[in-house]
Amino acid sequence: MSVHGRIHSVESFGTVDGPGIRFVIFMQGCLMRCQYCHNRDTWDLHAGTEVHVNELMVQIESYLPFFKASHGGVTVSGGEAILQAPFVAALFKKCQAKGIHTCLDTNGFVRHYTPEIHRLLAHTDLVMLDIKHMFDDKHIELTQVSNHYTLAFAQYLHQHQHRTWIRYVIVEGFTYDISAAEALADFIGPMTNVEKVELLPYHPLGKHKWAALGETYQLDNITPPSDVIMKQIKAVFTQRGIHTV
Ligand code: SF4
Repeated sequence: MSVHGRIHSVESFGTVDGPGIRFVIFMQGCLMRCQYCHNRDTWDLHAGTEVHVNELMVQIESYLPFFKASHGGVTVSGGEAILQAPFVAALFKKCQAKGIHTCLDTNGFVRHYTPEIHRLLAHTDLVMLDIKHMFDDKHIELTQVSNHYTLAFAQYLHQHQHRTWIRYVIVEGFTYDISAAEALADFIGPMTNVEKVELLPYHPLGKHKWAALGETYQLDNITPPSDVIMKQIKAVFTQRGIHTV
């Protein structure tokens, strides 16, 4: 397990990335190219700041009372956390040794099931898996990569009964599509490890980061989905007995 990792930033009082109050670590590096990425500046694998796992643990442990009071813990997000699996595994192992809940927020782009991946999952209490689109042509248009690896990872999590939440961003031109939502609901319906689906309305909050990097933000004219659209998508899941938030 590696004791050094490259991180983009940390957030000490996260409340939207897992249960309770979370210390959230955003890892540097991602291989997807999502059009709505709100952390565009995390893509470069070589940018960010190198940290030692013990440095982070000192910070994390100072929040222990908040974790205990709120049933919170540590979430590692990104960028893509799995690209630095040995480091995240080392961090999660230390967290668990202190009784701190661990959550992995991932796009599931896992190409090889290495011993490091197994170690990481062994020290992960909860996986939050982003599924961007069930239809591969739309997934490629949205992220520039196939959904093949992500869907295989979801099946792996099911086979090994890793506790999982699914995250699904609703964005016009891509996931407004009821048939895509039905395909996702049918895919995860039999997965007894999936506790809920988080339906996340698209928002343009990361747009300024694209501008700062001199990049074109392709969803410039897209607005967040209406409540009506969100209710229609939600109904697809609830009709199949899948819990959504
Ligand atoms: S997977 Fe996440 S970090 Fe990577 S491009 Fe997509 S939204 Fe951005």
